[in-house]
Amino acid sequence: MPPLSAAFTSNRIFLYAALSVIATLTTIANACRNYSNFYSVAIYLSRSGRSLLVLANFGFLSALLSGRVLQHIFFGPLQAREVERLYDQTWMFVTESLLAFTIFRDDFDIPFVIMFGFLLFVKCFHWLMADRVESMDQVPYPGPPLLFHIRMNTLFFILWLVDFIMLVFAVESTMSNGVGGMVLFASEYAILMASALNSMARYTLSNLEIRRARARGGLNAPAWENKSMYIFYIELVTDFLKLVVYLTFFVIVLSFYGLPLNMIRDVYLTARSFTGRLRALVRYHNATRDMDRRYPNATEEELAAMSDRTCIICREEMVAVPQNQNAAGQGQAPADANANANAAQDGPNVTPKKLPCGHIFHFQCLRSWLERQQSCPTCRRPVLRN
Ligand SMILES: [Zn+2]
Ligand SMILES: [Zn+2]
Repeated sequence: MPPLSAAFTSNRIFLYAALSVIATLTTIANACRNYSNFYSVAIYLSRSGRSLLVLANFGFLSALLSGRVLQHIFFGPLQAREVERLYDQTWMFVTESLLAFTIFRDDFDIPFVIMFGFLLFVKCFHWLMADRVESMDQVPYPGPPLLFHIRMNTLFFILWLVDFIMLVFAVESTMSNGVGGMVLFASEYAILMASALNSMARYTLSNLEIRRARARGGLNAPAWENKSMYIFYIELVTDFLKLVVYLTFFVIVLSFYGLPLNMIRDVYLTARSFTGRLRALVRYHNATRDMDRRYPNATEEELAAMSDRTCIICREEMVAVPQNQNAAGQGQAPADANANANAAQDGPNVTPKKLPCGHIFHFQCLRSWLERQQSCPTCRRPVLRN
């Protein structure tokens, strides 16, 4: 952001803050002039619509400012991309919640609005945490600095605690007061707990990757080929947890209020994503089960017959593996003695493998490709038929 517009925006915020504080002080001073004791001042403030509006605006301002302070503590300055995503997600959440308000219109009062504002406040930090954890993978070895780890662990602990307390509070209040608007908050905080768990699992995975790289030569360590599979399982479990929460909420609202319109989209998307992942998992397992026997090793002659020997997945040359190494199932191309020593234990398996359609790829390139789709990268013919 150029300095001029930055100055303008910050001035605008200062102006807004100053006006809000003045308005709040004037309102309170006015009330104090007319009423003698604290109790009647409080009653007056809560009865007058205009005073309530001024106080609500002050509450909003305080939330905004404390949000900024917390953001600086836990994230430092935000990137433009993060701010953009934050706005998108907030917009989406608020519009979806308008539908929820129509369901819970009888419970719509000031505490409800405050609970909703707090939920949005907490949600923003979950979104930012997920973004930060995701961006961890783009930081080259040795990964993000110590401050990042301290911030993420503290934030995770605090968010998880807040989610848990709010969930218990919402559930208990539903138990004692009957089904009402609190059901919405119970489900929202349960979903947030699942999201926070997802972020933490991915954070742990990235840390494991860094530790793994450290043990294998740092920057030049071979890529961790199973990582994408672990991410897949993490997403699968998260989807499952969310689906359980959504369906529970759906059933409760359906039996007490009628069709929960605001949830239909979420339930549908989560269910679709979950079943999609399950199906992909089955296909992936079928395509990669027993890969060594299912897809024959390419021979030197077959490689020589190709117009060029590049594996189109990684764009590197393929070298046939001598027969005696094939038997071990973990054959390595004798390309580089140094890399070979590294790869011999757990590095990428670069044995050229032939698909039923005749196209040839590295073992590990093929495997990571099959994780995403089960067809030949070159000709798109399915690998499972035949
Ligand atoms: Zn390759
Ligand atoms: Zn093919």
